[in-house]
Amino acid sequence: MIQENKNTESMEELFMTPRRSVVFIGSECYPFVKTGGLGDVMYALPRELAKQNCDVKVILPRYHCIPWEYQERMIYRGAFEMDLCADGRSFYVGIMEYVWDGVVYDFIDNDEFFGWGNPYTNLVDDIPKFCYFAKAALSALLYMDWIPNIIHCHDWQASLVPVYLRTLFENTELNSAKTILTIHNLRFQGIYNIPAIHYWSGLPDYVFNKDALKTGYEDANMMKGGLTYSNIITTVSGTYAGEIQTPYYGEGLDAHLRYHSGKLRGIVNGIDCGIWNPATDHLLYSTYDITNVLEKKRENKHGLQEELGLVQDDHKFVIGLVSRLTNQKGLDLLNAIIPEIMDEHTQLVVLGTGDDIYENSFRYYENAYKGNVCSNIMYDETRAHRIYAGADALLVPSQFEPCGLTQLIAMRYGTVPIVRETGGLRDTVEPYNMYYNTGNGFTFDNYDAGLLLDAINRAKTVYFTNRWCWDEMVQRDMDKDVSWESSARQYKDLYLELTW
Ligand code: ADP
Repeated sequence: MIQENKNTESMEELFMTPRRSVVFIGSECYPFVKTGGLGDVMYALPRELAKQNCDVKVILPRYHCIPWEYQERMIYRGAFEMDLCADGRSFYVGIMEYVWDGVVYDFIDNDEFFGWGNPYTNLVDDIPKFCYFAKAALSALLYMDWIPNIIHCHDWQASLVPVYLRTLFENTELNSAKTILTIHNLRFQGIYNIPAIHYWSGLPDYVFNKDALKTGYEDANMMKGGLTYSNIITTVSGTYAGEIQTPYYGEGLDAHLRYHSGKLRGIVNGIDCGIWNPATDHLLYSTYDITNVLEKKRENKHGLQEELGLVQDDHKFVIGLVSRLTNQKGLDLLNAIIPEIMDEHTQLVVLGTGDDIYENSFRYYENAYKGNVCSNIMYDETRAHRIYAGADALLVPSQFEPCGLTQLIAMRYGTVPIVRETGGLRDTVEPYNMYYNTGNGFTFDNYDAGLLLDAINRAKTVYFTNRWCWDEMVQRDMDKDVSWESSARQYKDLYLELTW
């Protein structure tokens, strides 16, 4: 009861901070379209900011693949023709609106760009698509006469927004807005040859210089331009903010980021604790909270084993992996040690899609360890929830990880993360300390398969020989605050700082 009052008071206090209007511009947002963590952030952060006295709008492409249940609820807000290309070629911009839980979603409608294929296909198609999207987003704001205090852009797909704003839109009312560019993953930057980006964006020649878009001898880099022209750059953890200024993690932009380091901040992501709540999660075999997690997790493990055709045995140590299957995620390390992990007490459940090499190797291991390895080569939300609830530990051995959400979700579900100490993994998972019985998971530092194996073995040792310490860690993990509230407050503070 006291806790409840405290929460209500702090929410009231947050609502008393000055109101700011902010538009989020990005290429994906759960539940309309999601391929990774960006989609989660674009969903959860605006909703949390709306609770913290922000007027929030989210601008997204109206992809063909958005489920019909959402498409049919959108209402037509208007349409216009927009000049885009260097030769003055113009395109249709439709605005379809959907209001949901205090957040306004405006979808940019154009069949030529968004009416076919996946959100991301290949750069030949994606470069024109996101030049169009960035300019259409600003044009739509002007059309709707919605002038925000803050324009918050996400990843390379929205990186041209700050560039357009301070060039082709500098004499519009929008120029009063401050811009933030958030890097969710620096690996993807939108790089293509200058003539193509010049043609499709219609941007003036002078932005294609070394300080802004130009990179190498003949290429333009959309993210680099966005970093130059935005007022603030954020990324999704403090550690990643430092790492990307080094050559190893900087993906070729480390010098540029060091130059702009004065406006670079790190704010760690949260998760939506409404969606990710084991106490109310209807996708689980059995819902649970911190008081009955130990018993109910067994039921979820049993359900998962049955569903996946694994040997049904409560005593097995079930390791989960929910991930895009790309080399970023440390799968080379995992593949190298699977035979050493797979003793008679261990099961491995993989859920993911991605590069053939990893999909095929996980298929191979499923066959090699029938009944104890299950490789779900698919994207499946329901199965993801059941793995988070039914597994004992979750692996995130990433080569780099800007923030990472799966370790946060795992902790919320009482599943102990085993992670590499990089980016947000380092900032959110405190290593287990056997002397003080503290920490949230098992960690290793260098990118080395032997160290991953060592971390898994340390986890197994505690699980099998010191169960009460393990169980306490499960409860500590469930108790950890992984919500958006404090991160959203840091974004709100940043908005206030920029617009005071
Ligand atoms: P990234 O954004 O690099 O892919 P994150 O850890 O930030 O990684 O976010 C991954 C998100 O995508 C999590 O919500 C995770 O549950 C989800 N996810 C990843 N792969 C799958 C899959 N195959 N099926 C269902 N959900 C998945």
